Amino acid sequence: MDRIAELTYQFSLIESSIRDAEVAANRSPGSVHLLAVSKTKPASDLEVLVRLGQKRFGENYVQEAVDKIHALSEFDLEWHYIGHIQSNKTKIIATEFDWVHTVDREKIASRLNEARTGEPLNILIQVNVDLAETKSGIAPDNLKQLAEAIWALPNLRLRGLMSIPDPVSDDDLKRAHQKLKSLFNELKRCHPTPEIFDTLSMGMTNDLELAVIEGSTMVRIGTALFGARPPKDTV
Ligand SMILES: *Cc1c(COP(=O)(O)O)cnc(C)c1O
Repeated sequence: MDRIAELTYQFSLIESSIRDAEVAANRSPGSVHLLAVSKTKPASDLEVLVRLGQKRFGENYVQEAVDKIHALSEFDLEWHYIGHIQSNKTKIIATEFDWVHTVDREKIASRLNEARTGEPLNILIQVNVDLAETKSGIAPDNLKQLAEAIWALPNLRLRGLMSIPDPVSDDDLKRAHQKLKSLFNELKRCHPTPEIFDTLSMGMTNDLELAVIEGSTMVRIGTALFGARPPKDTV
């Protein structure tokens, strides 16, 4: 198969897995969005998906992402930053992206706020649900305080939560998803404008169905769409 046929096939498989999972979970059709995670993949791959109707792309490496954002600027796309945020990259992230999924510190939030102009930047707080020591993400106990700090920043719009649970057993994953969903519900109850707090970014290639059952509204899919990445880049 050539690359276009391969990407077209994989895209249709993922779209139908998402639709099937929505039905299995009694969720309304279209309530789960696909974020195509395109790190390490060339702009030509993304363009194939764009022509099939895909609008949301997730990237992890700032310079690589900016090159693709510029290469595809003729299309009306939504760019999501899902990588680790270094302080010295906040300005370029705030300028080039529409969404950031990985905010876990007040200092980063306030730097993004300072650099953003125009439409507010859509923010998700990354939560370390299973409290893995090696991982980024805020501890559940400190979540409310960070959310309150973000609510006070005029150029940021807090839209929801995200997590990257450790790839463990299905039972552990399920618990991690349920934990994120319950933190989400708690925070929504005290959000000053709850109607814009609408996004739960959870689920990747290996746990798409599980995440949709537990309430995900945005699954971040790389491998199942584009194929494997070089080993060092698997998250
Ligand atoms: C790379 C990455 C993904 C995609 O993972 P796959 O298993 O390839 O679907 C999702 N989320 C984040 C934060 C990533 O870094």
